[in-house]
Amino acid sequence: MTNELWEQVRETLKSTVGRNNYTNWIEPLELHSLEDGVAAFQVPTQFMGNYVSRNFGEQIIFEMGRNGAPIKRISFVIGRSQASKAVETIAAKPIAPKQDTGGDLDDRFTFDHFVVGKPNELAHAAAKRVAEGEAVTFNPLFLYGGVGLGKTHLMHAIAHELRDKQPHLNVLYISAEQFMYRFITSLRDKRMMDFKQLFRSVDVLMVDDIQFMAGKESTQEEFFHTFNALIDARKQIIISADRAPGEIRALEERIKSRLQSGLVVDMHPTDFELRLGILQSKEDYYRAQYPDLVIHEGVLEFLAHRISSNIRVLEGALTRLFAFASLVGREITMELTQDCLADILKTSDRKITIEEIQRKVSDHYNIRLSDLIGPKRLRVYARPRQIAMYLAKQHTNRSLPEIGRRFGKRDHTTVMHGVKRVTDLIQNDSQIADDVELLRRAIEH
Ligand code: ADP
Ligand code: MG
Repeated sequence: MTNELWEQVRETLKSTVGRNNYTNWIEPLELHSLEDGVAAFQVPTQFMGNYVSRNFGEQIIFEMGRNGAPIKRISFVIGRSQASKAVETIAAKPIAPKQDTGGDLDDRFTFDHFVVGKPNELAHAAAKRVAEGEAVTFNPLFLYGGVGLGKTHLMHAIAHELRDKQPHLNVLYISAEQFMYRFITSLRDKRMMDFKQLFRSVDVLMVDDIQFMAGKESTQEEFFHTFNALIDARKQIIISADRAPGEIRALEERIKSRLQSGLVVDMHPTDFELRLGILQSKEDYYRAQYPDLVIHEGVLEFLAHRISSNIRVLEGALTRLFAFASLVGREITMELTQDCLADILKTSDRKITIEEIQRKVSDHYNIRLSDLIGPKRLRVYARPRQIAMYLAKQHTNRSLPEIGRRFGKRDHTTVMHGVKRVTDLIQNDSQIADDVELLRRAIEH
């Protein structure tokens, strides 16, 4: 009976939290018990419980109520099915908003823990500037980029820093979903004055994942008024979304244009360097936890190479790897890595052929395939050729002589030279680095 109810609630949540959130956070929740106005859910980790509580607690409570099971709060049972011992209780946030930001922030999402690389350096610099809390220079700051690229991390970092350095400022971080639910519940409870007052009284307002407001007209309307009131009062606003303002469908034009009126910063997909940097910083963190662990040369590079989808997946892979190695007391070798992460690696395990690389490269540079492979030594052909060789070396397991053969019977030393040249250029020529990164993504997908 209770499970049916949960199924039903889960179904309604599917449409309100967005597909990714649903798959990652809501679908895995199992209703453990429903007693005394408390719904307890089984979750594998404490982190998951915290995350769900923080981001979806209110919505779960709200939807449970609408489906005939009014509850006061939700709690979490940590662990897998019967094995669960520790019972953690996390009270959902009260419906009436509190003004402190502290509880909502992830402690690890600070500037110190944010690795800066080319794809995110502008976003980082803008976030840093805003975090100084000085006179507003660009308003709003709009950060956008794909899933897991660090938008939430940066926003939390801003809030942490402001809280430390400018404690008198009233900083409010909220997800667009929370904004929506607070708005709806305030309407329902006839507490709109409180709602308006809360949002009009902040010095810095951050709204995460604004794309969730798409199609929610009354919420947009209220947001628009809040937004204008704060901008007029020269209060800083920071917004994030998974795409550029103009690309968010079912968002009112006037809101789009307002969102574009400040600084719009694109967080680019990660590149190899950044991924490696992040892995190295996490490695330091894990080393403190598992001092005896041995990690073999090349493992981090391998992961940075193979897991390019997003940073969350990359982190998850490393966490699993370290946990596994420490549990079984083994060194982290390449082999262990491949076994332990087989499922994650498989998705990016498509066989890539040299022909495919050659085609993509010649398309990219708009030259003929025959010229890419042929004998001409002009720079317009030679550079793309070297890049294609480099990619062939990186993405296939062909040997240098074999690659040479496929490039018009060239010698393996020519290939070696080409690979080396491109490796150097990636360091020193950002145009080439971008080209290679673009091509790499085109090849992998
Ligand atoms: P988004 O909000 O863009 O989907 P998050 O901010 O939640 O992404 O980031 C996903 C995960 O990746 C978080 O655990 C975050 O700490 C980590 N992460 C993202 N970017 C970086 C970075 N530049 N340095 C270190 N960790 C990062
Ligand atoms: Mg986020």
